[in-house]
Amino acid sequence: MNDTEKKIGLKGLTLNELEEYFISIGESKFRAKQLFNWMYNHISTDFGEMQNISKELRSKLSSEASLVTLKLETVQDSPSTGTKKYLFSTYDGKKIESVVIPDKERNTLCISTQVGCPLDCKFCATGLMGYKRNLTAGEITDQYLLTAREYGKENITNIVFMGMGEPLLNYENTLKSIEIFTHELTKGLSRKRITVSTAGIANKIMDLAERDLRVKLAFSLHSAFEETRSQIMPINKKYSLKENIDALKIYAKKTRTRITFEYTMLKGLNDGAKDIKALIALCSSLPSKINIIPFNSIRHMNPGGISAELEPTPLKRIHEFADALRNNNITVMIRETQGDDIAAACGQLAIKNS
Ligand code: SF4
Repeated sequence: MNDTEKKIGLKGLTLNELEEYFISIGESKFRAKQLFNWMYNHISTDFGEMQNISKELRSKLSSEASLVTLKLETVQDSPSTGTKKYLFSTYDGKKIESVVIPDKERNTLCISTQVGCPLDCKFCATGLMGYKRNLTAGEITDQYLLTAREYGKENITNIVFMGMGEPLLNYENTLKSIEIFTHELTKGLSRKRITVSTAGIANKIMDLAERDLRVKLAFSLHSAFEETRSQIMPINKKYSLKENIDALKIYAKKTRTRITFEYTMLKGLNDGAKDIKALIALCSSLPSKINIIPFNSIRHMNPGGISAELEPTPLKRIHEFADALRNNNITVMIRETQGDDIAAACGQLAIKNS
């Protein structure tokens, strides 16, 4: 156990939690706002810099608390698209990745919520890694802060919880990080600029709807048929598509937002005429749009079983598929593959032996 592990980690604490912390060490709770500002606006990791906090308190904090969670190991650039992949190590030697994806009017940060993922989706490299542990709220928050330090906080305009892991299986820490990202004191992002992506944890979708959090929700659909979906996404056996769609309808109604259906196109598996028909029926039942994702190779993880057999739908077919949906008044985007030259594209994040 190193020094950092023995200290209380303050990064990732919400304002209320920081107030409780200061009260617990016999200090005034207004200190919480000062520290909140230093941690999340100035991205400070050194109590010594915090000049509006007394020297005695700074020294007390230095001896018992820590502001360090992740260590930035490497940054890889994709020369063709400008996508950047950040590799971080955790206090216990695990590795996680985040990606910044530049676009015309925005820069989107894709962050991870778990080391690996327990859900084993067959088209996803992270699923092939297996599951190690949930990230702490501090580790989730730090992916934003450390990339913002490199990139400029004002230049990160959107955050998507679409990196490694299922955010709704690390629910409390995901919620805490959203609270920090959007807090008025952090001059944070609007909730409309945050998207949580889920493979389908129906009870948590219901809970999100009740909290009226108003972040955008993306649902990893990949097939509108229960059987095919269970084949490529084992979580569908626990929370069926029907259960999830019922929850998404409630979420869309309560928050007055549109659900994004993520749809990775897999040759011969979900790209036929019957799939178009099923998608039309599904999309007509709730406010939604479809994000089509060309399948990105996961060969760098040496997949076996059904994962090894998956092939991408040819581009021509992807366009026919999208046009058929558009002709039925469905909003469809085809996501450009960004960063597959550095294994940073959708579904490719994975670290061997993490
Ligand atoms: S697609 Fe998402 S939920 Fe599925 S295995 Fe990959 S990281 Fe996990």
